[in-house]
Amino acid sequence: MKDKLTTSKAQLAREDSVVSKSPSKIPFILVGIFAAVTIALMITTIVFAVQKNDIAAKLDELKANKPPVPVDRETCTTKQCYDSAYAYLSNMNQSVNPCDNFFEYACGGWNQRHTVPEDQIKVSVFSSLRDDLKDKLKVLFERSPIAGEPSSYHIIRNDYQSCEDLDTINELGAKPLTDVLTSLGGWPVLGSTPAGGNWNATTFDFEKLWAALRGTHGVQIIVYIDTVTDPNNKTKHKLTASTPFFVVPKVGIEKTQLRGVKTLIDERDYSEELGIKILLDESYSKERKAYLQYMIDIAVALGADETVAKEDMKNLIEFESNMANITVLHPYSGTTENTLKEIGMDVIDWTRFFQLMLPASVDPGVTDDEPIFNYSPNYIGNVTMWIKDQDNRVKANYMIWCLVSEMVPFLNETFLAIQHEYQLEVNKTMSPTARWKTCVNNANDQYMFISGRMYVDEHFTEDTIQKTLEIVHNVRTAFKSMLKTNDWLQEEDKGVVAEKADAMDIAIGYPEWIKNNTKLDAKYADLTATDDEYFQNNLRYREWLSQGALARLREEVKDDYSLWSFGGPAVVNAMYGAAINGILIPAALLQPPFYHKDLPWYSNYGGIGVIIGHEITHGFDNSGRRFDKDGNYTVWWRQESIDNFLERAQCIIDQYSEFIMPETNRSLNGGQTQGENIADNGGLRESYKANMGNIPKQPRLPGIDFTEEQMFFLSYSQLWCSVFTPEGADDVIDNDVHSPGPYRVIGALQNNEAFSAAFNCPAGSYMNPDLKCKVWY
Ligand SMILES: [Zn+2]
Repeated sequence: MKDKLTTSKAQLAREDSVVSKSPSKIPFILVGIFAAVTIALMITTIVFAVQKNDIAAKLDELKANKPPVPVDRETCTTKQCYDSAYAYLSNMNQSVNPCDNFFEYACGGWNQRHTVPEDQIKVSVFSSLRDDLKDKLKVLFERSPIAGEPSSYHIIRNDYQSCEDLDTINELGAKPLTDVLTSLGGWPVLGSTPAGGNWNATTFDFEKLWAALRGTHGVQIIVYIDTVTDPNNKTKHKLTASTPFFVVPKVGIEKTQLRGVKTLIDERDYSEELGIKILLDESYSKERKAYLQYMIDIAVALGADETVAKEDMKNLIEFESNMANITVLHPYSGTTENTLKEIGMDVIDWTRFFQLMLPASVDPGVTDDEPIFNYSPNYIGNVTMWIKDQDNRVKANYMIWCLVSEMVPFLNETFLAIQHEYQLEVNKTMSPTARWKTCVNNANDQYMFISGRMYVDEHFTEDTIQKTLEIVHNVRTAFKSMLKTNDWLQEEDKGVVAEKADAMDIAIGYPEWIKNNTKLDAKYADLTATDDEYFQNNLRYREWLSQGALARLREEVKDDYSLWSFGGPAVVNAMYGAAINGILIPAALLQPPFYHKDLPWYSNYGGIGVIIGHEITHGFDNSGRRFDKDGNYTVWWRQESIDNFLERAQCIIDQYSEFIMPETNRSLNGGQTQGENIADNGGLRESYKANMGNIPKQPRLPGIDFTEEQMFFLSYSQLWCSVFTPEGADDVIDNDVHSPGPYRVIGALQNNEAFSAAFNCPAGSYMNPDLKCKVWY
């Protein structure tokens, strides 16, 4: 499902003279709730003063946008209400007219006191929560064992410690990797060195090398291989084949489950598009050059002759570009079911490949007639025909490079320095990430249920799941009730749309079984990690994960498996997967400003409620609408509904294409971001309806006299406070399927009449334009 490549960078002239916004960091002195109350009293006083004396037109304007002061509401006096009241007020910039620019009104204070760290290109409420999560996990990973804890905790502690132990890593040098290369028969570019193994083209065995790389080392190359739940029989597994990733990301295979999954915010490491752009897009020639140099430098550091490395890596990048080009020329067009015999087209012996790769526990083993879901028949057919004419040396060089590039992060500082140089070029940051952060992230990614258990034990309140489920119920009901008044979806299609909403599977917080020590330890029983073998720990992890995924083929599907393959509990994000029609809301998202049990409902509906609505709406956005309730890629609406949908989506595309990032004076790509924008707009409406429809009057927060409606929109807007460097602004425009924070706020609010009413925004003002784009409402 790849969008056409864009060359917006080349087409849009850059304004080099535009000065970037680099807000100074103002030390913010916390003066407690007194400040909040004082500010509020001042506002109230001003309002009254204005009413009495009619002082100035400017103050009149201010007054027009102030809420009526409610007299009959209680004040919430829990600690969280005080904390949140302080946050709401200090994040705002109330000197701005909310009808002129609501993002600045809601987030001006936050943006004023945040600067972008040197290892980042933007800073946001999300990145702050992620930093805070890393701090929490660091404490948990460094904690001494206690009696009665799950024995699998040792895995994450040891792996984290081995990662921090750079002295030992440096002592080992490249040997851990060269040993692996030798065992695979050598990397051709390394020639007669031990890790080159005097590689011989005539004895090259494609299927055998592929099986070793995919089966033992978990590397996805040329065709992406996995097992999934069979949609036609949800207790069984089936093999799948689809397009691979290119260039980046080289990530653990479990994370690549994220492909095809919509995330609430960008997971940069998993961008399928970026790799393709680096290989093919003219405006990415600088990054492509850096990628080539990176490959050469790594090969030379492993012992290659520089002249040979230059020649081999040039051929390799051409080989990879050809494959990337095949994916672009032959985009996703639906899934077919093949047998192993059929999919190989007498060019690749898939049956032998699987027989070599699958664990012995897969019983009975596979034959020519084994079924396989072919998610990318166009790509796989074309790449198979193309590859038969390719030189064996470049094939072997490429296949092993994929392993090498994934293992570089686990090597010594010589290799890390080469990697940093490349990443700084591609990620546009000024400095590398601190080692401990890399170590925390790696351990949390790899052992997500161990870290998840540690996290929820310490930082998650049990009744959160039940309360969130109630919000899910109300938002889903609101979505369905809006169908009744929807005037573009054909009556006959409304039933199937409601059915799909009802069929959505929702996982919240964490999977139940991780709370059971026996079950958690059983999950990791075959895995071990020591505190001084970082590389080996990861090699073992990859084999364990890969073999475990493949061994599932003949096993029954276990509960909770599919959704929790999107990510673990300690993740600050939310996901929707169209292929399984499911939503994941991890525990680490269920905290302020998204959710807190002591906050009034307008806070929680403006926070997690909108996020849930956003994910539900993904089931019906420009890509979600192509999948039915069982996740089948099919046409399931009448043509008239589809035409009407496209017309309404176009309105959103045009609206967001007008927005300009001031940091580089470039406009957004409304086509690239349409799915997320449709989801933001729908989610905001659904949660608003759920909030205002079902809930009894909620108390005010101390010091804040806004109406519930105003608080709802303020809560939503403050989720997206963010500051960008010019590189960050370019990056979000070029590579992110989400609109940048400011326009997630402005775009969705401009289309929302309830917002205009809540803030008395005059018709025709910036925040209340006459043209309103609406898809789901
Ligand atoms: Zn989304």
